[in-house]
Amino acid sequence: MKLTRQQIQSVLNAEFPHPEIPLAHSDAYTLLVAVLLSAQCTDVRVNAVTPPLFAIAPTPQAMVQLSIEEIASIIRPCGLYRTKAKALWHLSKILIDKYRGKVPSSLSKLETLPGVGHKTASVVMIQAFNKPAFPVDTHIHRCAKRWKLSSGKTVQKTEADLKRFFPKKSWQKVHLQLIYFARKYCPARGHRVDLCPLCSLL
Ligand code: SF4
Repeated sequence: MKLTRQQIQSVLNAEFPHPEIPLAHSDAYTLLVAVLLSAQCTDVRVNAVTPPLFAIAPTPQAMVQLSIEEIASIIRPCGLYRTKAKALWHLSKILIDKYRGKVPSSLSKLETLPGVGHKTASVVMIQAFNKPAFPVDTHIHRCAKRWKLSSGKTVQKTEADLKRFFPKKSWQKVHLQLIYFARKYCPARGHRVDLCPLCSLL
């Protein structure tokens, strides 16, 4: 037997009725920076480094006033901080030079920015611009496979399958709900089917 969309959504809505974006930000630029920093880093750690960073560099114009070394020293607690500092400086310069200091609301343009992959671009598209996208992280990928919503072969396949499974208007909320659900109930290792509000329905 397979979980239905209604079963999944009713549990997600009951458990996480108003899922918040877990990364502190105030606009599209600060969200882009926070999501870039979150690669191989916990949200808690990102939320610890962004307040001092955004206090002095809340815009691309302010970011390029810093040296890459200065950015790196602020974001040091995050993994890959040297690479990320370089990406943040160059990305900010491109935003100034090509997009008048604004974050473009286009998936393909976002994906050309340094340090910005498909998932990061998708988060910005749906959460900052409310444009349809379905970012698939490792948690969502795992759940989709366990719930047999996708073969789980590749993240791209999972994204396509989930886009077909959930109505477009729910993507913004569902993608956050899935992350919260997976973190709470569906860890990579060890799970109690009897305690789980979803698979216990089967
Ligand atoms: S039982 Fe719960 S934790 Fe296990 S796969 Fe199902 S949803 Fe995930």
